[in-house]
Amino acid sequence: MKNKIFSNITNRLKEIQKIGCFSNKEIQLLSTPKKINNATLKVNGKKISAWRIVFNDTLGPGKGGIRFHPDVSEDEVQSLAFWMMIKNSLVDLPYGGAKGGVRFDPRQVNNQELENISRKFIDVFYKELGQDKDIPAPDVYTNSQVMAWMLDEYERKVGHHEPGMITGKPLELQGCDLRNDATAKGGFIVAKEMIKKFKLNKKTIRIAVQGFGNAGLYISQMLYKDGFKIVAVSDSKGGIYNKNGLNINEIIKIKNTTKSVLDYKQAENITNTGLLKLPVDILVLAALENQITENNAEEIQAKYILELANGPITYQADKILFSKKTIVIPDVLVNSGGVIVSYFEWCQNRTGNILEKKYLEKLLQQKMITAWEKVITTNKEYGNKIDLRTTAYLIAIKKILIAEKLRGRLKV
Ligand code: NAD
Repeated sequence: MKNKIFSNITNRLKEIQKIGCFSNKEIQLLSTPKKINNATLKVNGKKISAWRIVFNDTLGPGKGGIRFHPDVSEDEVQSLAFWMMIKNSLVDLPYGGAKGGVRFDPRQVNNQELENISRKFIDVFYKELGQDKDIPAPDVYTNSQVMAWMLDEYERKVGHHEPGMITGKPLELQGCDLRNDATAKGGFIVAKEMIKKFKLNKKTIRIAVQGFGNAGLYISQMLYKDGFKIVAVSDSKGGIYNKNGLNINEIIKIKNTTKSVLDYKQAENITNTGLLKLPVDILVLAALENQITENNAEEIQAKYILELANGPITYQADKILFSKKTIVIPDVLVNSGGVIVSYFEWCQNRTGNILEKKYLEKLLQQKMITAWEKVITTNKEYGNKIDLRTTAYLIAIKKILIAEKLRGRLKV
């Protein structure tokens, strides 16, 4: 179905228009991407669709990851770029929103093909990128090695060094020590704030985590190390469940050897859809979009949902969860640690100044907590009558619109 993800966004914007008293012109601006670049990558006789979309650049250059996945579509990339725009504004970064995507299955190609596709992406889009124009980063099924190939290809094309054109690079190529687990770390900081605010009892909390890649694996590891009980995890092949808790370190070893979390002896295998409905207190969504929809929202038992993935809950499902008093901590806040640390990396690349890891960790903590408090305080100002996602959007949108007016691009 065309626009099945972005239609959620337009529905939300219609509702937010009423709450925030925004004009049609303002909403029109927020619903329209600034530039859609798409191309067909010709690699080893195959034709592969690719996109790089800048949704808005009023607060600064485009910023957002590149996804390699067989289901990538323009609708998805555009939605991800929109969320980056909201996120960057919410956490006060000097960036607009952008995203890239390449439609193929990286699990079905060898390393050489992966490198060729990564380089080809840059060959076709390099004129659209740059440290002051649009800055990619990793997303689903892309990693620091992919960023390294992309940086190399970009610098070969433009003929000079420019490490700030991409983030999430390996340390040896001017990456940032914190970047690898930054998204999870930011989510972990928010999880702790949420537990404090809602006075949850750490000893009795049961947690399920959907997705066991960069975001899901690291947050599971952090929660487990901190003494929380994780009763279920899953990846694209399925999930595992033990109501008494899982040994996450053991599961990481299994995942690293078999590429799957399945068949861990001290747990039963479950389906991905089954994981979502488990009797847990906190559900961490760390896989893909549209996991909780109007079809399964009623069956969700968790009272708290942390969205580490982008867009895992549809607009209709949000309504159902809100009426059930389920607290959803939104993606644009929870997973912003990734782009915050990308920002640190970008600053270091531009100044040549390498900052202490401990200092950056403190800065990340501060930025996450500031954003969390901003959302909670604003929600209170609205009498807690709107959900936290709507609240976060209102904060972000107001800032973007002010910037658009100051630039004279939006006349009132
Ligand atoms: P990843 O490629 O490292 O991992 C994705 C994981 O999801 C894998 O374990 C995969 O097996 C699993 N998965 C895929 N389909 C699934 C399904 N239907 N059910 C359960 N698991 C499934 O990707 P990632 O970087 O961890 O990204 C996950 C989510 O977090 C995405 O929505 C991404 O946009 C978001 N995110 C990631 C970052 C980052 O820095 N990596 C930053 C912000 C947001």
